[in-house]
Amino acid sequence: MQIPALRTKRLRNAGIRINPRVPRKPASALCDKLSEYLDDQAIEEVYHAYLFGAEAHQGQRRVSGEPYINHPIAVAEILSELRLDSRSIIAAILHDVIEDTEIPAETVAREFGDEVAELVDGVSKISQIEFDSKEHAEAENLRKMLLAMSRDIRVILIKLADRMHNMRTLDALPAAKQRTIAKQTLDIYAPIANRLGLHQWSRELQDLSFHHIYPNRYRAIAKALKKRAGNRKAVVKKLRVSIERELRESGLDAKVLGRKKSVYSIYKKMSRKHRSFDELHDIYGFRIIMNSVDDCYRALGIIHNLYKPIPGRFTDYIAIPKANGYQSLHTVVFGAFGESLEVQIRTEDMNRIAEAGVAAHWIYKSGPESGATPPQLARQWLLDLLDTQQQTGNPSEFLEHLKIDLFPDEVYVFTPKGDIKKLPRGATALDFAYAVHTDIGNRCAGARINHELVSLPTVLNNGDHVEIISSDTAHPTATWLNYAVTGKARATIRNYLKSQQRYEAVNLGKRLLDRAIKTRRFGRKKLTDDQRRMLLDALGVDNWDDLLSDIGSGIRMADMVAKQLLPPPTNKDKTVTDDNDQPLAIHGSEGMLIHYARCCNPIPGDTIVGFFTTGRGIVIHTTDCPNAKGYRKQPDKWVPVEWAAEVTGHFPVNLRVEVHNKRGVLARIATVIAEQESNINNVNVDERDGKFPAIRFIVEVADRIHLAQILRQIRTEPSVIKVTRAKG
Ligand code: MN
Repeated sequence: MQIPALRTKRLRNAGIRINPRVPRKPASALCDKLSEYLDDQAIEEVYHAYLFGAEAHQGQRRVSGEPYINHPIAVAEILSELRLDSRSIIAAILHDVIEDTEIPAETVAREFGDEVAELVDGVSKISQIEFDSKEHAEAENLRKMLLAMSRDIRVILIKLADRMHNMRTLDALPAAKQRTIAKQTLDIYAPIANRLGLHQWSRELQDLSFHHIYPNRYRAIAKALKKRAGNRKAVVKKLRVSIERELRESGLDAKVLGRKKSVYSIYKKMSRKHRSFDELHDIYGFRIIMNSVDDCYRALGIIHNLYKPIPGRFTDYIAIPKANGYQSLHTVVFGAFGESLEVQIRTEDMNRIAEAGVAAHWIYKSGPESGATPPQLARQWLLDLLDTQQQTGNPSEFLEHLKIDLFPDEVYVFTPKGDIKKLPRGATALDFAYAVHTDIGNRCAGARINHELVSLPTVLNNGDHVEIISSDTAHPTATWLNYAVTGKARATIRNYLKSQQRYEAVNLGKRLLDRAIKTRRFGRKKLTDDQRRMLLDALGVDNWDDLLSDIGSGIRMADMVAKQLLPPPTNKDKTVTDDNDQPLAIHGSEGMLIHYARCCNPIPGDTIVGFFTTGRGIVIHTTDCPNAKGYRKQPDKWVPVEWAAEVTGHFPVNLRVEVHNKRGVLARIATVIAEQESNINNVNVDERDGKFPAIRFIVEVADRIHLAQILRQIRTEPSVIKVTRAKG
């Protein structure tokens, strides 16, 4: 393979300083490997990525002291074993560029295209996640989170190759760090590799991890394995030769490969079965690669003729492939040296899929496919592996567009303690609060996502660190139902609102009934139990609180209930009662059963009236509101109200400000309003309203005095012509 000439112009355009001393050697081995399956143009692009990466990492070194660029090149070489496409290879070469150098993602995108940039970005995102090795259940969620974050499987493949090279060069790090990384690899990355069908990678990652976590145990087993291999070497070789000869004599062309178990898998087997190494059998096996499916079955017959098969250990995965598309014949026979021997028989194509796993489906054109796994099987396999029930889209998309959402319905986020919560896609900070605990949800005032303050409706993304800010004064409101998507959060909020509404209805009902009784001159004495029972019987209500709640929520009129206690009033009585009507005091903190009409926006200090709306409670209007006049025709529906001496809350009020068309006036008025410690809820500029432009504000005030102050201050603005409180 000829190394392409330095394309200095292209590099300069990319803002890369040209260093003529960039050694070409590290890339040449890679380019040689790639030339087995990529065309010259693709390799030239890869070489360009190498120059780009070498420049970007210029001066950086690995802990071992070698130039940093050697690492990404090694990662690319590992990926070339899977025969991945040139974009994956380029992304592998650049995988640490965004994270560890000054080069922005846009430059990578401009220079190598969006696809490469997205792959690099995906790998960087995974690298940014800081996680400790967790207990088993957590590890499972963490694996899913990683998979969910890398919407393109190639991101995971690059990350796995990255981890593979880091594991192979782990010795350079301090011992404690070695153990941490090894444990993480064993818990997270090896299982992911296994899941993706990359069994070879998974085995190597396991062995490397095991080696660094338990160096002594590793050495002992490896030594025993080597010793036994030495003892058996001659026998195994004889066995292989005789199998090969038998097959050849039957006119079959076969490749016979010896197999031995990994150190880690032997360790697992020993600890699982409580056996010593000497007590373990089937450590050896053979894999036989045939030219055709027919030949596989013929070879099986010959093997069974040579060695006695163990009953019940034969499986035909060719006729019935595994869900992942894996095909092979498996049998276990009694070997010549008294050990059982596992034999796998398959074609070259089947072997490739078994070795490369999910990557087999991306392998660069590699000759005629004979019975290769159909794409839908591959997709189905992934979905099954990942325990995902839902299948979306057209199955062939799997191959056509490499992007798939592995968990379209889920999002994985971190709690402040580093635990992982799984939530449905679209879940918000509020949902998270309820997922942590009902009490946290009910007292949730805000949230921080990745240390930034956010509002409760903020939608969560994979990998977010979420922290809830709770407050004793915070409580669920009806609008929360718009922010929550999880069933748990919504049900809890609804329950809370229901009991809160009931509580408020009972309180309001009590006040209304007290007022009605007082008005009817029943006296100030409390009702006796007998009187209450009589009342409940007469009205057919089960208990006292139910009755009060009915009154409070406008289902029953307090006056009608009070009437049951007394003879019907005479006309004279009626007049008297009207004069003595005790208004209901409005405190501003009543909750859900007192509403303020939007037509007139009453504020403390205004004279007001209240109107019953069945099921909703009382709506407060100003007495001069046109809508209030309409309601007056239904006297039984209105209730006298007045502001209590102490009113709490912020009340919206409409302001209309006419101004000279002067620039900056809006900002100045807004400042004046803010200086009066009032919030602006809404601003509207109406150019066609009257001679002069009018600005409409909705501001929040405490009462009429506060409003008067604001109006006075606005009037001092020279550009203001007129300011009024607007109603309706
Ligand atoms: Mn790396």
